[in-house]
Amino acid sequence: MSDTFENDAIQSSTLKSTDKNPSNIMPEKLTLDSSLQFECHPGVSCFTACCHNIKIILTPYDILILSRRLGITASKFVTEYTEPTYLEKTDMPGVQLKLVGEKRGCPFVTPEGCTVYEDRPTACRYYPVGMADFHEGGSNDAAEEKFFFLVKEPHCKGHEESKRWTIREWRADQGVDIRDEMNKEWLRLVMRRKSFGHQASLSEAAKRMFFMASTDLDTFRDFIFNSSFLDTYEVDPETVAKIKEDDVELMLFSFRYLANTLFGAGGMKIKEDKLKAKVEEIKERQDESLKKAEQEYKELKAERDRMLQERKA
Ligand code: SF4
Ligand code: SF4
Repeated sequence: MSDTFENDAIQSSTLKSTDKNPSNIMPEKLTLDSSLQFECHPGVSCFTACCHNIKIILTPYDILILSRRLGITASKFVTEYTEPTYLEKTDMPGVQLKLVGEKRGCPFVTPEGCTVYEDRPTACRYYPVGMADFHEGGSNDAAEEKFFFLVKEPHCKGHEESKRWTIREWRADQGVDIRDEMNKEWLRLVMRRKSFGHQASLSEAAKRMFFMASTDLDTFRDFIFNSSFLDTYEVDPETVAKIKEDDVELMLFSFRYLANTLFGAGGMKIKEDKLKAKVEEIKERQDESLKKAEQEYKELKAERDRMLQERKA
């Protein structure tokens, strides 16, 4: 497996990990038409084994859907059911499901299975078929942009079942397409941060904004509508109306805003008058520093002249 695959691709499998052993990732690149022999059902001897001792990273869409399912606010959900983590070995803050009990199980697992199955997180749906997406990653080859791979962990007996599917059929059954669409831009933010490496630092304010937008859309909406945001950015009335009412639209908008403010991506425009005011402010600051530098130079020169005079005397 290439370094690029390890380091630069958006890897759906990294949202969930039980075992850090990379040998559990099969080295074969799969397509949507590749065959998969796998089935998970209450009859497997390992039923719910994969819902314990795991790290399940939640995407903003997962948080939105799960908090709606439980009928609580996103901030209450994050406080009660998650704990902080860092995303993809970067300094980007995120959340993972908080494991509970002696067996360190997911808070939603019971002996009968998952109590939030229809709204389970993205990571639980992908397993055991991961997806690597190189868009904006390391590869320039369009054909190489996306492929799938199989995760085969010893505890998972689903691989011993006889049912065969194509990867396409499996993904449709798990309902991952909508998740891919909803998570794509957010995962790209994380991968952009990862590809910048540790040399480029992200300010604490930027990290706070990323965390807030990723985990608490109510507060993000408050920020949009009760700050100078709409006076500063050009946002068309149709978008304003949508993000006021629709959480998914607001979430997708937050990804655009974060890409713009954190990484200078396009898609957001500062209003002309605000831009002019900012340019003026910078110019004024520059003028002031120039004046200050000139003044310092004059003072230094006067001091040098004074010393020369003293020496002559
Ligand atoms: S959310 Fe459901 S499927 Fe996912 S780990 Fe928890 S119990 Fe298992
Ligand atoms: S078959 Fe695999 S995915 Fe299904 S419960 Fe067992 S460990 Fe989990």
